[in-house]
Amino acid sequence: MSTAIGNALWSPLAHMPSVLAGGRTIITHGSGTHLTTDDGRELLDATAGLWHANIGHGRPEIAEAAAAQLQRLETYQSFGSFSNDVALRLADRLAALSPIADPRIILTSGGSDGVEVAAKLARLHWQLEGRHDKVTILSRADSYHGLHAFGSSLSGPDIYRDGYGPGTLVPETALFSSTDIDDLERRITELGADRIAAIIAEPVIGSGGIIAPPPGYFERMQELARAHDILLIADEVVTGFGRTGRWFAVERFGIAPDMIVTAKGITSGYAPLGAVFVAPRLWKRFFDGPDAPIYRHGVTYSGHATACAIALANLDILERENLVERAAELETVLVRELEVLRDQPGVVEVRSGAGFLAGVQLEPEIPGDRVAAVALDRGVLLRVIRGNTIQISPPFVVTEQEIALIVRVLRETIEQFADRA
Ligand code: PMP
Repeated sequence: MSTAIGNALWSPLAHMPSVLAGGRTIITHGSGTHLTTDDGRELLDATAGLWHANIGHGRPEIAEAAAAQLQRLETYQSFGSFSNDVALRLADRLAALSPIADPRIILTSGGSDGVEVAAKLARLHWQLEGRHDKVTILSRADSYHGLHAFGSSLSGPDIYRDGYGPGTLVPETALFSSTDIDDLERRITELGADRIAAIIAEPVIGSGGIIAPPPGYFERMQELARAHDILLIADEVVTGFGRTGRWFAVERFGIAPDMIVTAKGITSGYAPLGAVFVAPRLWKRFFDGPDAPIYRHGVTYSGHATACAIALANLDILERENLVERAAELETVLVRELEVLRDQPGVVEVRSGAGFLAGVQLEPEIPGDRVAAVALDRGVLLRVIRGNTIQISPPFVVTEQEIALIVRVLRETIEQFADRA
């Protein structure tokens, strides 16, 4: 069946590890941690998709919430002097969960949009303060911040920055080490604090290789930001809504940001939606008065009614089933299970302990894409991310036995390749 459809779809299939194994993987159904393919295979989702499916797949409560909303109000955006009741309820609910006190919420259609909103607000803030040189935004060298213009130029690895001609919004000199915080201080001195509008940081670097902050890293970042009047933006697109065992990772790592960008986990991926949490220091200037620049940050789908209804149902599930607390427990299980991989031939490093996510970095001679392909043939869906690293970040409804199975399949697969290497 699959050969008859989808010839027009270009991008995703080329990257799937299973393509290398001679097949392709087309998902048609999902339930909890399980996915079913069009040729009837059952897969255990060890990554929660692109770390979004936190409550698991195929949740009937979400389908019901979406259907009820579609029958009541098909769609109305939240823009200008119009909004819809679900967008307002969601904003209040997010404000109640927010680690930033008394925030204002800008709803977006995903993480990339959110990064652009935050970067533009940071620059605009300083323009309105009359500090016209404060435009540079610093970011961590291993970070990923989305697809759009600011996000691409703020992302560290070359692949996100190179090839698009001149005019990137942020120079490469604005990158600082993801692990050595003294490098941030050097950057600030070199570039001049008067030119720096903000620092953006993923609390735990995700697609750049799952890199936890070393002890003291964010404390020092916070001190430097305060001392030099630099805004702090937390990119919680991966970590937000429970992935680190707290609602937001800034709570775990003691970061007090001026803005938080979220997406993915806000709906567990059941609808495209994001939210930027904005601190009073910023919104009091922006949102009071007739020229409120919120209008410059709306998109057609800001506050999309069905997406907001899905987000509310997702938050209900996270709360009712205590899934954020569960993620903290599962982190302990995952760390324990991964112990066996630490001394395994073929493994460079196991990066875990900064939430319910882990990266297993393989030696260069062990091809990560082949490892993922073999694991897939054995029914476990893993993903290779930057630096030949295998990503493990299951939905929060995974069982302890399933975690053990994921690690066992990974271990045996690495063994198989290490023997050959
Ligand atoms: N920031 C981070 C940290 C991300 O991981 C991603 C997506 N993987 C984005 C931003 C962009 O989000 P989206 O794909 O929803 O646009």
